[in-house]
This record gives sequence, C-alpha cells and structure tokens, in this order.
Amino acid sequence: MSDRTTEATSLSVPCPTCGKTVPWTTASRFRPFCSKRCHLIDLGDWVTEGHRIPGEPAEDELMSEEMGRYRDS
Ligand SMILES: [Zn+2]
Repeated sequence: MSDRTTEATSLSVPCPTCGKTVPWTTASRFRPFCSKRCHLIDLGDWVTEGHRIPGEPAEDELMSEEMGRYRDS
C-alpha cells in the first residue's frame, strides 16, 4: 500500500526500514530514514541483495562465505 502524500504542508516520509514517520527537514539527517541505524540496515539489505546469487537461499552462510573471500583477496 502506497499512500505518499507529498503535497502536505508539513512534509514527512515513512522510514523505509521501520515505517516511522520522518519529517522531511534538514534536521532529519538520515531522511528518508528515521535514524542512522535504519539507514545502515537498509544499506546492508541493499548490499546483501547485490551479492545474492540466484538459487542460493542460505543468506547467512553466503554472507560469511563472501566475507571470507574478501579477506583472502
Ligand atoms: Zn526507521
């Protein structure tokens, strides 16, 4: 469900990670995320997506495998 009302007087966006309402102001440094934590979580998800091999469901194992590979090279 997408109900983004961008024309509101007080702009706010839902945090993509936790769904919390984030005021769209310069004070919200990590917008559209509510916090640095949520930003990093989303970033982590994105990185995981990028490294996911199709047909490999074991995400956690894959991730440690990948990390080991990075350490070697
Ligand atoms: Zn959040």
